[in-house]
Amino acid sequence: MSEAGEAALRDEIARLGRSIFDRGLTHGSTGNISAKVDDGILVTPTGSNLGNLDPARISKVDWHGNVLAGDAPSKEAFLHLGMYRERPGNGAVVHLHSTHSVAVSVLADVDPRDVLPPITAYYVMRIGTLPLVPYYAPGDPQLAEAVRGLASKHHALLLANHGPVVGGSSLSAAADAVEELEATAKIFLLLRGQKIRVLENAEVADLRRRFPVK
Ligand SMILES: [Zn+2]
Repeated sequence: MSEAGEAALRDEIARLGRSIFDRGLTHGSTGNISAKVDDGILVTPTGSNLGNLDPARISKVDWHGNVLAGDAPSKEAFLHLGMYRERPGNGAVVHLHSTHSVAVSVLADVDPRDVLPPITAYYVMRIGTLPLVPYYAPGDPQLAEAVRGLASKHHALLLANHGPVVGGSSLSAAADAVEELEATAKIFLLLRGQKIRVLENAEVADLRRRFPVK
């Protein structure tokens, strides 16, 4: 990737971070965004606020997490590296502490193999299946292992009592998917206790045929 290409990607991460923060999709210094470059990934720095990123200071780490440029990376960079290792087609990963998704990650009565029902077509098209990753403290190497174990089959994961991690072919694809997940989590919570019709198996299968999730 050229220097200009990397600079453009840094700008895109900062723009996306601001958009996410301004819409309240993550708060304080939570959440992190990464994008793949030739020799590793660009990832938002530790303690950074997504609404106020300096593109030049965004961290660049190699595939082992060693810092190549910029500030020290997020403590959660290992989650991102685990996703890229298992998903060579992914160009970006977004991890948020978005309120409704976190709320769902705390519920005791969900199916850990697939947390949310197929409420809407767009949820099926952009997320599909959402496994729950068991709870580990932030920074625990077992969390990275658990993420890697699921990432080869799933581009979207929900960390229990924590939040979503979603990969995509590009920053905009990953952002679209994590936003779809957050909107669906909100709808799911709005409907708790109500009688609802979710999409039938045949409808879900038809969507998967027409719009395979990447
Ligand atoms: Zn987190």
